[in-house]
Amino acid sequence: MSKTLFEKIVAREIPAQIVFEDDRVLAFRDINPQAPVHVLLVPKRAVPRIATAQAEDQELLGHLLLQAAAVARQLGLEARGYRLVINNGADGGETVPHLHVHILGGRPMAWPPG
Ligand code: AMP
Repeated sequence: MSKTLFEKIVAREIPAQIVFEDDRVLAFRDINPQAPVHVLLVPKRAVPRIATAQAEDQELLGHLLLQAAAVARQLGLEARGYRLVINNGADGGETVPHLHVHILGGRPMAWPPG
């Protein structure tokens, strides 16, 4: 199967501004930022989307969320707050079929989302 865009970033085949990496996840700046800070955190093992995640992905998903909070802290977002977003499917706004957590901060977020 062909690699997803984010697998290519993980493999360093496409450049990205990487802000954090460990053995299971990679965080990099979104190319089209929607906030002063907009980082994507992806599992290195490609899970297409949250709707396709399986029981065997449980540990990875927990790690992903804990690292999202750690990356937000590293980026200085903890004091004022931030938003984590996972888009799923067409109506959810998903455009890259490789699970990713958006970490958005640096400005107040509106609710509900548009
Ligand atoms: P989603 O719409 O939730 O699937 O999010 C995909 C995100 O990937 C969008 O916010 C895009 O701006 C971002 N994106 C697309 N291509 C790249 C790239 N080469 N490097 C960094 N972010 C990207």
